[in-house]
Amino acid sequence: MHNMIIMGPPGAGKGTQSERIVSHYHVPHISTGDMFREAIAKQTELGKLAESYIKSGALVPDEVTIGLVKERLSQDDCKNGYLLDGFPRTIAQAEALKKLTKEIKREVDCVINLNCDYGALTERISGRRVCPKCGASYHLVTKKPKVENVCDSCGSTLVQRPDDTVEALKTRLDAYENKTKPLIDFYKKEGLLKEVDGLQSIEDVFLDICNALEGK
Ligand code: ADP
Ligand code: ADP
Ligand code: ZN
Repeated sequence: MHNMIIMGPPGAGKGTQSERIVSHYHVPHISTGDMFREAIAKQTELGKLAESYIKSGALVPDEVTIGLVKERLSQDDCKNGYLLDGFPRTIAQAEALKKLTKEIKREVDCVINLNCDYGALTERISGRRVCPKCGASYHLVTKKPKVENVCDSCGSTLVQRPDDTVEALKTRLDAYENKTKPLIDFYKKEGLLKEVDGLQSIEDVFLDICNALEGK
């Protein structure tokens, strides 16, 4: 079964690798960041609630995020596997996920941790451009779209994420250090953690992820 989590600091390459993983393993990509951004674009109740937290770089409260994932993971398309990207981000979320996936018999069987140093993260985040329509992510230097500033997949004009500023990144890195990093030990203890060097090229990172998933 491919019930997977990809984790790592902001800008480590989770979204980029998720695109490849889901097309290779044919499982749905569940990105809480993408779900929140979609809700903000539509100005739903959830979007209005999440917007100020995200803009400043703070985490959205656990009860909101957990509720969102609970509903999504219970849907029918997750029965043959799923990839969680950006969730869990706190111990409380990880505990809730463990309980929930046990109840619905969709327990996580692999956690990929993408390692990346802070210098690279800053470069990746400052050069990141994203598609506001389909969520695809590009980079001014390392992953240029075929036509400048235009999404390869859907033709939309690329934008910079409002939280990809120096100020918000500082808050996001603090949140990562204090709240998310402890999950590495959590999943080590569960025997699920696979470490991957995220500093390699996009292709090489993907190869390592496939090897880790296939237990090589
Ligand atoms: P990044 O690319 O920095 O890893 P994401 O796209 O995963 O960021 O998330 C963007 C923002 O959405 C986060 O900074 C946070 O405000 C919010 N968010 C996403 N996932 C979660 C989560 N699991 N718990 C709380 N907040 C979240
Ligand atoms: P995350 O989802 O973890 O926040 P992204 O996948 O959006 O990270 O990647 C952050 C930025 O770094 C994007 O601009 C992306 O194109 C670029 N990037 C991703 N992986 C690599 C890599 N292995 N080498 C160089 N640049 C990368
Ligand atoms: Zn697009």
